[in-house]
Amino acid sequence: MIEQLKQEALRRGDRLQVVSIGRLSALKHEIDFFINTADLNSFQKWIVGNLYKFELPSVDFSIQSIIMVAIPHPAYAKVGFIRNGKAYNLMSNIMSDFERSENYLLDFLTPMNHHIVAAPNLPLKRLAVHSGLAAYGRNNITYVDGLGSFLSYAAYFSDVPCNDSEWTEVRLSERCTHCDICLNKCPTNAIRKDTFLIDNERCLSYLNENPGEWPEWLPLSAHHCVYDCLKCQIVCPMNRGFASNIVESIKFSEEETDILLSGRGFDTYSDVLKHKTSVLGINNWLAAIPRNLSILFELIDDHKEIHL
Ligand code: SF4
Ligand code: SF4
Repeated sequence: MIEQLKQEALRRGDRLQVVSIGRLSALKHEIDFFINTADLNSFQKWIVGNLYKFELPSVDFSIQSIIMVAIPHPAYAKVGFIRNGKAYNLMSNIMSDFERSENYLLDFLTPMNHHIVAAPNLPLKRLAVHSGLAAYGRNNITYVDGLGSFLSYAAYFSDVPCNDSEWTEVRLSERCTHCDICLNKCPTNAIRKDTFLIDNERCLSYLNENPGEWPEWLPLSAHHCVYDCLKCQIVCPMNRGFASNIVESIKFSEEETDILLSGRGFDTYSDVLKHKTSVLGINNWLAAIPRNLSILFELIDDHKEIHL
C-alpha cells in the first residue's frame, strides 16, 4: 500500500514518504529539547513556540501515519511589470501546485476507504529529513534526491497503516562537507559555517516577506526578487539541472502593477490578477510587495544590476 502510494507520487513527479504516527511524540520531544538548549533568535523562538503544533486533529478516522509529499516547482519565474509606461523585468518565486497533489492523493486513497487531513503546522523540513525524504543543506534548505530544493512540502495525517517507518537522524548533506558556495554567495551573511541553522533574522526572505523599514545594515544590492531570495539555491551544486527550470514570463499590465503598488486587498483583484499572484505566491506577502517592488524599480531606474 505505502509502496503503491510512493509510486503514484513518483509518477506524478512528486516524492512521498509515510511516517508512523508513533514518531510524532519523538519529534515533539526533539523540538522541546531544541527550544531549551539551542541559542535561538526571536524569529526562531516564534517558529518553534507558535508555528509548530503537534496536537492531533479531531477527525472521524483513526490517525495512524503522517504522509509527507515533496512537490517540486520551477526554480523561479521571470515577471514583467509596467510603471509609468516603462517595462521592468524581475524575478519571482513560484508556488508548488498543492491542489494537484492533494487531488491525486485523494483519488488514490478514497476508493480504498482511506482518509487524509492536512497537517500544515508540523516542522515539515525536519520531518522530511527524519523520514528519509530529504537532507539539509548548509543554507537550511532541504534537498530531495531527484528534485533538488525547488519544492514545497505538504503533510497529512492519515489512516494509512504504518507500523514502522524510517527515521533518519537530522544531519547536513555530505555534499556540503567541502563546499561553502552558498555561504559565500549569501548577500546578508545569514549562513553559518558550523551549523545548518542559519541566522534567519538576517535572511532576505524574512526581511522582504515582512512589511516595514529595511534594516540599515541591509545593502540595496541584496534585493533581486519580488519576495524571498533565490541566491543560495541557484548556486548550489545539488540543484544542478534544476536551477534552469524557469517559467519564462508572467506579465503584469500597468493597471495591475499599480494595484500591487497600492497595497489593495486581494479580494478587490480581478480573477486574472488573483490567479497570477497566487501562482507566484505574491498573494501571501501583499503587505510587503509595494515596498519590495518600489525598491526593485528604483534599482533598475538607477541602472543597478539585479542578478542572481
Ligand atoms: S552550496 Fe554547497 S554548502 Fe551550500 S547547500 Fe549547496 S552543497 Fe551545501
Ligand atoms: S535565502 Fe538568500 S539571504 Fe537567505 S540564506 Fe539563502 S542566500 Fe542568504
